[in-house]
Amino acid sequence: MTEFACCAGSRWSAVTDLGSAESFDFILGTCDGCGRYWMNVWSPVAPPARYLSVENDVAERLSAIPAGTARKRALATWFDAQ
Ligand SMILES: [Zn+2]
Repeated sequence: MTEFACCAGSRWSAVTDLGSAESFDFILGTCDGCGRYWMNVWSPVAPPARYLSVENDVAERLSAIPAGTARKRALATWFDAQ
């Protein structure tokens, strides 16, 4: 998995692929060092991928939404607010 320096020497590990919204793919993961949530946001037409921190309650709320229009809308809303 992609290396990501939240905690020195730690890596980012994928937890859940939340799918795509607005032509971006959203993969929720955690830091192996501290367990903090990070969202890997990437698009094949707009590299490089970005890693955005996610609050625990937000990560759990987004994960709990069934795949579909409601989740896409929630992801887009969250992303627009970053
Ligand atoms: Zn960390």
